[in-house]
Amino acid sequence: MKILVVEDERKIADFASKGLREQGFTVDVARDGDEGYYLATNMGYDAIVLDIMLPGKDGLSIIRSLRAQNNNVPVILATARGELDERLEGLNLGADDYLTKPYFVDELAARIIALHRRSTGSTLNMKQVCDLVLNVTTREVSRGEDTIELTSREFNLLEFLMRSPGRVYTRTQILEHVWGYDFDPNTNIVDVCIQRLRKKVDKDADALIETVRGVGYRMKKTDA
Ligand code: CA
Repeated sequence: MKILVVEDERKIADFASKGLREQGFTVDVARDGDEGYYLATNMGYDAIVLDIMLPGKDGLSIIRSLRAQNNNVPVILATARGELDERLEGLNLGADDYLTKPYFVDELAARIIALHRRSTGSTLNMKQVCDLVLNVTTREVSRGEDTIELTSREFNLLEFLMRSPGRVYTRTQILEHVWGYDFDPNTNIVDVCIQRLRKKVDKDADALIETVRGVGYRMKKTDA
């Protein structure tokens, strides 16, 4: 899952992004409200962790603007102790949840997963293409009878491709969603990871991860 953390306090931004990455999330960090709002509107995120007091556009204005554009990305407010009025206003404006700083990253991760489950419907915790099954919550993958061991990056890449079987994603789109937007677009890291994934997923079976020459990659669309 891809998360945007909008936070101007470097210490909090660092521990949140580091902690979430360790748990397998892809994380972008914005250090002021203008950058946060720009990224929130231009990049697709599965959730946004939003500070209220920010240089530039403040957190409440960001939620107001997102919701006015019918952008329903789940938003978790990270509020300081004492910001009760702001927290209530944020929830009224369409924030989905809040945490009081300092918070535990484990709790933040659990809330993100819970929000994601609520917004996508619980059945979508399981993604299936042909006999390939991926569980978003337990992060388990199997093909037929076989359990497949993936690194966290390989899992995130597979999960991204499995969201829309048949849809072609360019290397840049994959890079942005699985590695984060500040990664060098000239790297061949996507191709390398796809090759590793194929060895594990398509080893002794029909190829499900397809190359679209000159464009990118897609998950095979099956009729089932
Ligand atoms: Ca702040």
